[in-house]
Amino acid sequence: MQVVILGSGSPLPDPQRAGPSTLVRTAVGDFLFDCGRGVLMRAAAVGSGAAAIRALFLTHLHSDHITDLNDIYTMRWTMSFQPNPLPVYGPAGTAPLLRATEAMLEPDIGYRLAHHGDLKWRPSAEVTEVESGVIFNEGTVRITAAPTNHAPVHPTVGYRINDGEHSVVIAGDTVPCAGLDELCEKADVLIHTVVRRDLIEEFGLPRLTDVLDYHSSVPDAAQTAARNGVGTLILTHLVPAPAPGTEQDWLNQATNHFRGQVVLAFDLLTLDVIH
Ligand SMILES: [Zn+2]
Ligand SMILES: [Zn+2]
Repeated sequence: MQVVILGSGSPLPDPQRAGPSTLVRTAVGDFLFDCGRGVLMRAAAVGSGAAAIRALFLTHLHSDHITDLNDIYTMRWTMSFQPNPLPVYGPAGTAPLLRATEAMLEPDIGYRLAHHGDLKWRPSAEVTEVESGVIFNEGTVRITAAPTNHAPVHPTVGYRINDGEHSVVIAGDTVPCAGLDELCEKADVLIHTVVRRDLIEEFGLPRLTDVLDYHSSVPDAAQTAARNGVGTLILTHLVPAPAPGTEQDWLNQATNHFRGQVVLAFDLLTLDVIH
């Protein structure tokens, strides 16, 4: 199993970092987790794409995690040469989101159906709204969901992907919570969105300070990893984006609490999952 951080950024546009999105490559195909700004540009860099992914999973419906859903929906449709519904898993609200996305694209769907002679079907999705438990089971791959805590954003879910004996957890945006602990138990890799509490407090801008109460800080994420015997912690969705030369400060805030390997994500960071 392999993990590729497609986008390591946050809601704030950044020339170096696409929006939140992670590709998990398994024996039964590529699974995409969240679809922030620029996701398909980054997927193209590793030979994946909307038509090829086995399924899309959403951790929650915050705009930065779903910005490019419409791009995936359209490209899946136009780059497939037979009907290829997009399997989408996400919290309650995902089904209306897909309907609204399709409604937004209605003029374009009409143009393309009228123009392309061999495109005789509409785009479509197969949506499964999830809460907890095993939600996907095929071949060697089993995917489990559990509720996380990103209040007042609700509901939100995290995911654990097991491929044979290897495991990866996608925390999404959350403060430490029981659901995430359950997913993380002895996982090989935990991919956790984080914010820097010290830097954000220093800015003192209320719009930014607000993000502290529903995200994990770097020490929070490290403590979750340590408490649950995780092997490798990948810090992503970095707020604020690390200034060049400050990377070690981010790592130190984690290694003060966690003895495993800590990696600060950048776009297209690729990690083979091994014990
Ligand atoms: Zn969020
Ligand atoms: Zn976010």
